[in-house]
Amino acid sequence: MAIADSALSSSGQSNIPPSADLLVIGSGIMGLWAAIKAARAGLSVTLLEEARVASGASGGLLGALMPHMPDRWSDKKQFQFDALLSLEDEVRLLEDETGLSCGYRRSGRLIPLPKPHLRPIAERHSKDAQTAWATSDRAFAWNVLETSPQPDWLTPDIGASGVVHDTFAARVSPRGLTGALRAFLIRQPNARLIEGEGVAALRTDHVRLTNGERIAFGHAIVAAGHRSFDLLGQIGPPLPKPLGSAVKGQAALLKADLDPSLPVIFLNGLYIVAHEGGHVAIGSTSEDVFEDPFATDHRLDDLIVRARELSPVLADATVVERWAGLRPKAIDRDPMVGPHPDAPRVIALTGGFKVSFGLAHSLAECALGLMTDGPRTVPDSFRLDHHLQVALRQQ
Ligand SMILES: Cc1cc2nc3c(=O)[nH]c(=O)nc-3n(C[C@H](O)[C@H](O)[C@H](O)COP(=O)(O)OP(=O)(O)OC[C@H]3O[C@@H](n4cnc5c(N)ncnc54)[C@H](O)[C@@H]3O)c2cc1C
Repeated sequence: MAIADSALSSSGQSNIPPSADLLVIGSGIMGLWAAIKAARAGLSVTLLEEARVASGASGGLLGALMPHMPDRWSDKKQFQFDALLSLEDEVRLLEDETGLSCGYRRSGRLIPLPKPHLRPIAERHSKDAQTAWATSDRAFAWNVLETSPQPDWLTPDIGASGVVHDTFAARVSPRGLTGALRAFLIRQPNARLIEGEGVAALRTDHVRLTNGERIAFGHAIVAAGHRSFDLLGQIGPPLPKPLGSAVKGQAALLKADLDPSLPVIFLNGLYIVAHEGGHVAIGSTSEDVFEDPFATDHRLDDLIVRARELSPVLADATVVERWAGLRPKAIDRDPMVGPHPDAPRVIALTGGFKVSFGLAHSLAECALGLMTDGPRTVPDSFRLDHHLQVALRQQ
């Protein structure tokens, strides 16, 4: 991959020598993939993290990798399909390189159909999947079953009108994957990881850190999760506000003697995800308003009760961890990727909301493509300028 001239030009205003071709701000799943893709492309990259790697939303428990419905196909759905497919190879490569497990498995998904009207819809989706979820050499299905194929795992009581079995959905261990990404990154001679130092101010060609130091950059990728929205607003004339928000989510980890290949269960916002090592993750709440972003409460208790009702095998499973985090939600809900309108060398890479783990590697390629000659582009609704227009209309 060639580096565009602008990436190597010196910083015009600040006289601070560029410390790296690329400065990545934030080391969640987005920032990690961006730094790794940049390092693999031969760029010198600094990944800057104010706390510890993956200590934000990406340090959670769930790791569900859910495709969009196969109906009304669009460029957005195709982008996500391609990303979910290619993640399989990305993970295999990373595991080979690091010797670490990412806890990835294409275990599929079960969706109970509690009401009769859901059945014909599911059957239509089944037909849609035959074309939408197929490539030249692989095909995935949206099968409609009469009842739960694993009654201990998913109770047959809930699926009065059948159960969908989707063979495309997958899961990954959030901590396994981010741990492997970190391990790979710190071995790269052209990559530098700084933990425990945050960006206090973002400018067009440099950042000021919380300790007062400044770092110049050729390009910067802003991957600071929900904090990205405010950081992007620090440059140039005020951007329309808000560009996005933080949505709290709570999840739990249970211990149970289970087959790790069991499919993800999904019903009305509740996910039950079997992981390796006898762990099952349950999530998630979705809270726009909250007092303590990192506290867990009765909302999580309710989810656990629902999960135990849905999955008999979890009836007595011990809760080993309760966790809460803040998802980055861009104003128009889709991810937010693209150059800042007043600082083309500053690129947003955020807003993955509930689907970052399946998309981040592909979105990172697109973000890098903006500073190199990379061919990948994001769907229109993912572009930063699209979100800016939406924010402007809502002002
Ligand atoms: C309960 C819950 C369940 C979820 N389940 C799923 C799921 O099943 N599948 C899925 O795909 N997604 C899921 N998500 C969403 C997913 O976790 C997030 O979309 C994703 O982690 C966001 O990644 P990120 O890299 O954009 O942000 P983060 O992971 O939040 O990373 C941002 C990083 O930037 C750092 N940072 C912030 N400000 C600064 C600064 N000024 N200077 C330097 N560093 C800074 C932070 O410390 C943090 O480490 C879930 C989220 C929650 C809360």
